[in-house]
Amino acid sequence: MHTILVVDDQEGIRFLLKEVFKGGKYRVVTAADGAEALTKWEEWGPDLVLLDMKMPGLDGLDVLRKLAEKHRQVPVIMMTAYGELQIVEEALGLGAKGYITKPFDILELRQTVDTILAGAGK
Ligand SMILES: [Mg+2]
Repeated sequence: MHTILVVDDQEGIRFLLKEVFKGGKYRVVTAADGAEALTKWEEWGPDLVLLDMKMPGLDGLDVLRKLAEKHRQVPVIMMTAYGELQIVEEALGLGAKGYITKPFDILELRQTVDTILAGAGK
């Protein structure tokens, strides 16, 4: 089973994404901030990360930088607000696989995740 790590400081988003991906195919683990994301990353060894860019404390770019230092490459999809083009470019430069803009299209998000994880094996 593939594990998805959802990182967002908004509880509503964490809840929503848990609902979107539940149902047997994926395990969803959530983190409310960057520090918790790194802990959960170590603990669960996720196959994919959905990462909010705007968070208090360590933000999405900080988390990306930390993950880049790890030995295990995991696809990261950023969650950004409309117009955050500079953040998107910086995050792609740090190795993020792609991004979705909030408020996001659930079907499109699910498709993106399915496609990435289908190619991941396991
Ligand atoms: Mg946020």
